[in-house]
Amino acid sequence: MNYLAGYPEDLQAQVRQLREQGRLGELLLKKYHGQHGIRTDRALYDYVLDLKNEFLRNAQPLAKVAFDSRLHLTQQALGTHTTVSRVQGNRLKAKREIRIATLFREVPAEFLRMIAVHELAHLKERDHGKAFYQLCTHMEPAYHQLEFDVRLYLTHLETTGPLAWPAGPAAIRESGPVPAYRPDAS
Ligand SMILES: [Zn+2]
Repeated sequence: MNYLAGYPEDLQAQVRQLREQGRLGELLLKKYHGQHGIRTDRALYDYVLDLKNEFLRNAQPLAKVAFDSRLHLTQQALGTHTTVSRVQGNRLKAKREIRIATLFREVPAEFLRMIAVHELAHLKERDHGKAFYQLCTHMEPAYHQLEFDVRLYLTHLETTGPLAWPAGPAAIRESGPVPAYRPDAS
């Protein structure tokens, strides 16, 4: 259950039970419909850039956005944000890059949005502090629930394997049968 280690124990117990009953995948498939259809690095770049232009227009420009098959579950890193410094002429130029684990290529649109929002927020906030999560929920009001649901999916991936998310148009977002996570207000 290491993907859910930071969550309340009663919630973890619910998930454990669902997993033992073999119902986790079924519940996720009921809640989320449709893959996002973004397949290439080019399309991913455009997608992330649109989000950035909407919410973080003044943050540093993005030099590169790409899917990265080297990001694996075991590293606990689903995306990375790096600043690559290069010498240009006699100046040092910093370029921001975002990499997103390839597993996000075939997931519901909301899951991709969650990880894109997360990595974009790191352009402004390095640490996972209060300001970071405020920025995430500013970009995506359902951020906390989506991160929880992504972690549910990772739990499923690790124990059972990938889910066959149906292809197709986007998603409905409603409170489905998956346990709800609401961070306390403190
Ligand atoms: Zn992070």
